[in-house]
Amino acid sequence: MKYKRILLKLSGEALMGGKSYGIDPQTLSRYAEEIVTVVKQGVETGIVIGGGNIFRGLQGAAEGFDRVQGDYMGMLATVINAMALQSELEKQGLKVKLLSGLSIDRIADSASSRKITEALDAGFVVIVAGGTGNPFFTTDTAAALRAVEMHADVLLKGTRVDGIYTADPEKDPTAVKFDTITFDEAYERKLKVMDMTAFTLCRENDLPILVFDMNQKGNLEKAVSGENIGTVVHN
Ligand code: UDP
Repeated sequence: MKYKRILLKLSGEALMGGKSYGIDPQTLSRYAEEIVTVVKQGVETGIVIGGGNIFRGLQGAAEGFDRVQGDYMGMLATVINAMALQSELEKQGLKVKLLSGLSIDRIADSASSRKITEALDAGFVVIVAGGTGNPFFTTDTAAALRAVEMHADVLLKGTRVDGIYTADPEKDPTAVKFDTITFDEAYERKLKVMDMTAFTLCRENDLPILVFDMNQKGNLEKAVSGENIGTVVHN
């Protein structure tokens, strides 16, 4: 395996599968299988999951909600998803520690760099829920933060597209995929990798990001073993 310690970011939307809201059990179980495969090969795995399948603060604000209130609702949505993933991973035989950036102590201990690394060292898969615990941030930023905190070798961003293109491939048929790209070039070309806060955190801490299609079976294992899939963003 190329990477020994990984942080996997899954969006909440990915959990919907073909549904338009909530969690699709089949998709959840397939993702868990992918994770089990890499964990069984000794990869130390942290996971951060979004909440967009349930609630997003910005969408709430557009509908007239208070932004901060909406952001906390979004963070709670990530807790729901994280609990679902925890249950599924445990069902499939893994030891899972759920930590949270938002204090919710009956369900999860508070996330900290020390707690995350101790749990990884003890052989747990660690899911960090609750985002950063602060409004006005995203789960991508939480993923970057946790990846840096746990000294991950790479941040794996599992999406529905197979990498980063020169333009949106769904709109522009001449769009070309990058195998690798530097942070500087991605910035200059204004390519959307992650939001700027997350992007900057990774760049400043020299943490590569691998964007890949999580919906292709076997891709997580390929990504971790260094096969040429997706796009790697690096310094
Ligand atoms: N959120 C937040 N602070 C954080 C992480 C998340 O306020 O540190 C809120 C924000 O409202 C966001 C929602 O939680 O819209 C769900 O997260 P996100 O949209 O990043 O989920 P994803 O797109 O990955 O499913």
